[in-house]
Amino acid sequence: MGFLSVLSMAHKWIAERTSPGDIVIDATAGGGVDTLMLAGLVGPKGTVYAFDIQQEALDRTRGRLSSLPQNELPEIKLMLESHARMAEAVDRSAIGQVSTVMFNLGYLPGSSDLTIITEPASTLAALDAAISLLRPGGIVTCVLYPGHPGGAEEAARVEEWAAQLPQVLAQAVIYRQLQRTTAPYLIAIEKRPNPAR
Ligand code: SAM
Repeated sequence: MGFLSVLSMAHKWIAERTSPGDIVIDATAGGGVDTLMLAGLVGPKGTVYAFDIQQEALDRTRGRLSSLPQNELPEIKLMLESHARMAEAVDRSAIGQVSTVMFNLGYLPGSSDLTIITEPASTLAALDAAISLLRPGGIVTCVLYPGHPGGAEEAARVEEWAAQLPQVLAQAVIYRQLQRTTAPYLIAIEKRPNPAR
């Protein structure tokens, strides 16, 4: 039968912690698969922010969302800016209220410019912002791709960042196939229900 793929596991952990009406963030909209999944979870009373630095990604995401009936769509905010700015970019009322922030790092598959990739400095800034936006009990997931140039370094930096998070603030876990060192893997962080920062 095999274990779940890293993306399916990310979706499962998110679905277990996300409810209709929630505010959620897709930090890397890309082709919109994850944004669509988040939109379905939060439903018409929810809000989905989707960040990407490429207009092409946001266009693809908008197109994919059109597969949902209009009356089932949440409020969708497509943000053409770096996820590193997410704390300033979201409505102030969302601070501390976000249930899920999802990262799927790397490049936009099928893009004409595969050199546009997530970078460690902005990824780490965005992860810090994500933790500050989460509500207690909320989750951050981060799918890492060590197989492309620069991907292994970025993955190592994210792992280091997650490992040093104070345990009183959050719990960090890793889901990884051990025999394939270049295969994608998943880090997830759950903010403590009553974090003492
Ligand atoms: N979640 C997507 C999906 O469901 O199809 C896949 C995301 S794709 C692997 C990674 C995306 O991250 C690319 O579209 C890329 O443009 C975007 N990206 C790169 N740097 C970024 C940044 N600083 N802020 C936001 N998005 C960024």
